[in-house]
Amino acid sequence: MTFLSHWWRALIGIVGVLGFGAATGLYLGRPATGLGLAMLLVLVFWSYQMFQVERWLTNVSGETPQAAGVWGLLFDYIHRLRKQSEEAQGRLESSLHYLQDSLKSMRDAAIITDPWGNIAWLNDSAGSLLGITLDRDEGRPLVSKVHLPNFSDYLAVGDYQVPLRIPPSSDQKRCLQVEVSTFGGGDKLIFIKDITEQYKLEMMRRDFVGNVSHELRTPLTVLKGYVENLQSLDADLVEKIQRPLVQMDMQVVRMEVLLKDLLWLSRIETIEGADKTLPINMTELVTEIIEDLRAAWPERKIDTHLEHDDVILGDATELHSAVSNLVVNALKYSGHDDLVTVEWKLDAGFPTLTVRDEGEGIKPQHIPRLTERFYRVDKSRSQATGGTGLGLAIVKHVAVSHNAELLIDSVYGQGSVFSMVFTPHQKGTQAAAY
Ligand code: ADP
Repeated sequence: MTFLSHWWRALIGIVGVLGFGAATGLYLGRPATGLGLAMLLVLVFWSYQMFQVERWLTNVSGETPQAAGVWGLLFDYIHRLRKQSEEAQGRLESSLHYLQDSLKSMRDAAIITDPWGNIAWLNDSAGSLLGITLDRDEGRPLVSKVHLPNFSDYLAVGDYQVPLRIPPSSDQKRCLQVEVSTFGGGDKLIFIKDITEQYKLEMMRRDFVGNVSHELRTPLTVLKGYVENLQSLDADLVEKIQRPLVQMDMQVVRMEVLLKDLLWLSRIETIEGADKTLPINMTELVTEIIEDLRAAWPERKIDTHLEHDDVILGDATELHSAVSNLVVNALKYSGHDDLVTVEWKLDAGFPTLTVRDEGEGIKPQHIPRLTERFYRVDKSRSQATGGTGLGLAIVKHVAVSHNAELLIDSVYGQGSVFSMVFTPHQKGTQAAAY
């Protein structure tokens, strides 16, 4: 039977009791008293049932009260809802326990905080890595217990797509990485990993490349000197070795360019995290680059649209190298008559530098790998144009160190568009970045 039909029956019951009271009163010559007493009876009954509901709801483990009619139905409904919510709560608790069990044995610190940032749970590794324990610190604000550079800002900003990396400093010797995910109604699961070994390896690779490139410069200069000396000898003397000499000269020049790019890349990597504070007028910088390139490639047509006047904060030498790499690539990988366009403008509020060409384009499968060191789509073509395969790696590092994103768009056979998108506050991030 539905709640509505029970409700009708209850109403008929009430009307019946009132009618009976009124009729009895009429029979005894006091109809008003009879009706009043009947009303009182109804009121007492309903108050009693409401009291039962109230007592039952406040006493969680209490027995479900027994009642007939509409009240019985109501108790049944509430009982069922209560059971469902208890079951859901139980399921949630058991998954939380399961999660906590699996996090317990992890080597990384795992911390769960409530929506207000207070510590709700943590594993043993959090103790050894950060010096916090559940017994002592449960319920306390996490940021008041963990004092790591940029940690509280990172948690407050709420954008956890990119993990926070905390390099070693004078206060703490380890390199840490923080990853955060939110769940439930704003609870956070925070992982803090010790990535010191990985950091050391990266540093070793960086130092090694930097040192080797540096050390190779001297022998290369000597070789270059000898080749030049030999080439300046009498034509009769060098006639027989003319071809190898030309080859040696070309290879020495290639190695020089390669070493220059490697050293430059290792310099940019070393200062990647440093704040960029100098105001750079990109319009002037791009104009200067384009003037130089027009002089070096007089037969090519380069258009510029420099429509954004604001300065950005950055490093002029790095930006110079990134922009010239992009424009030189556009010239190298497009035909003689193809137009190259350079734009500096606001795109949806983001200061954007775009280099566009109508050249050979790039097949989609190569695009995600272009910024890898030494990655070249067509090795022979790149070598023939004097390429080292390091140009776009340099551009990407310059972009990262300027808090900008490098976007690459290309249609094979029709041309390519390379954009550096700066963040607005840089006065100087968006889509697929490489
Ligand atoms: P490289 O010194 O070989 O030019 P880069 O790192 O600058 O090295 O570029 C990597 C590869 O990306 C190049 O070898 C080339 O195949 C491709 N590439 C770069 N820019 C363009 C472009 N504008 N059009 C077509 N292909 C390009």
